[in-house]
Amino acid sequence: MLENVIIFDTTLRDGEQSPGCSMTLSEKVEIASRLEALRVDVIEAGFAAASKGDFEAIRAVAGEVKDVVVAALARTLPADIEAAADALKKARRPRIHIFIATSDIHMVHKLKKSRDEVLEIVGRTVRHARNLCEDVEFSAEDATRTDPDFLVRVFDQAVKAGATVINVPDTVGYSTPYEFHDLMIRLREQVPGLDKVILSAHCHNDLGMAVANTLAAVRAGATQIECTINGIGERAGNAALEEVVMALHTRKSLFNRTCRIDTTQLYRTCKLVSALIGRPIPANKAVVGANAFAHEAGIHQHGVLSETTTYEIMTPQSVGLAENKLVLGKHSGRHAFESRIGQMGYRLTEDELHRSFDRFKDLADRKKTITELDIEAILQDGRMDAPPIYRLERFIINSGNTITATANVSLVRNGKSREKVAVGDGPMDAAFKAVEKIIGTSFQLEDYSVHSVGAGKDAQGEVVVKIRKNGRLATGHGLSTDVVEAGIPAYINAANRMLGGLCPPAESEAVL
Ligand SMILES: [Zn+2]
Repeated sequence: MLENVIIFDTTLRDGEQSPGCSMTLSEKVEIASRLEALRVDVIEAGFAAASKGDFEAIRAVAGEVKDVVVAALARTLPADIEAAADALKKARRPRIHIFIATSDIHMVHKLKKSRDEVLEIVGRTVRHARNLCEDVEFSAEDATRTDPDFLVRVFDQAVKAGATVINVPDTVGYSTPYEFHDLMIRLREQVPGLDKVILSAHCHNDLGMAVANTLAAVRAGATQIECTINGIGERAGNAALEEVVMALHTRKSLFNRTCRIDTTQLYRTCKLVSALIGRPIPANKAVVGANAFAHEAGIHQHGVLSETTTYEIMTPQSVGLAENKLVLGKHSGRHAFESRIGQMGYRLTEDELHRSFDRFKDLADRKKTITELDIEAILQDGRMDAPPIYRLERFIINSGNTITATANVSLVRNGKSREKVAVGDGPMDAAFKAVEKIIGTSFQLEDYSVHSVGAGKDAQGEVVVKIRKNGRLATGHGLSTDVVEAGIPAYINAANRMLGGLCPPAESEAVL
């Protein structure tokens, strides 16, 4: 039997820290449930002392999941450690995760502390955390730029004080696989008692090597790896969970390790995170990108048709990828729709089923063939529910290359309809301005993106809009075979979320 590597997911903490990736409380809880279904071992739910929102999110996640360890991050400050312990009260398996910087550059410029002072703090705060929680993880921030001899002393101190997990972060994404491998080996040789605790790696992707460094750590004996869904995170991001997991899965004999992850849940989890933060998955993204399994070049196609393993090292089914093939049409009934959704692994309430079936029928009138990708887009779009403050009634847009774009938009609020006209740089700008006139406030447009669901002229366009106001960010989605018709509801969706308070802070403090 191969030994399992512990998969520590920090999408809700490190992932959320990256600009534009913030999530609301209910979104975090939804992602946590999905991570539990994916069978990650540890969910880092937030940084308890960072904000009230983070504290509440840890509490909510701790109350929601059952079979997963829930971790909360804390600096080496008594108040931070107590806040983490407090937020974790409802967790069945809580873990306090403490960190302090150990590289000279961080100690001199950020902490303004000597090596001896840092050693004393590590021992004292790990003991404090152990008094409040059985499971304590200790991280040496910027470990890969720390003098290795000093790093050994720091970890020795943490292990002696009772840390149950020792984490080695490549905080600034500086390391390379060879170096990271050698560092892990050195720590295993020189830190007394390290074989009695969990040894963990936490890699950032500044030089594009987060996944490679993480795998090098596994080869060197790391027993836990920290990663995020879609690799979201600070700057260039963290090691992508789906990539590390599929590398372990596909190259089992090389790594001599496996993990508990249900790989068939990977695609669905990646899509959910992508939809909730409003950041589409690039087509060439490893493992879950739209082209990851598309063997379109003639010679490859021929090879794949005669024997799939000629060019396919893993199957689309193994990651639960939805397929872009005809599944339903205009004449498919509610029963066929319901059973297909079930086969795709979704469980909907009666109400959700009713609404998505209506949208499916509407789409079937406009689009010849409906694929799993289309159905998935409908389900994801329905999930971006916002308080129904404003609803689109109708719009008329006049645009062209020789005239100024004009939009006439009518919205309904509390049964009363209001109409405004605005001009703008192009049809969408005009329409957004008309919406703002009706609402009586303006937003900063942070991002506006359109991408097609599947292929073909009649493909649906998925629009994601991000707006900012007073340091808060709201994301809106729209879906239609007509991109203008998708864009306006996306903007209204974002505005409703902003007005209804479903708008997390746009920026958070960066750590680890
Ligand atoms: Zn990090």
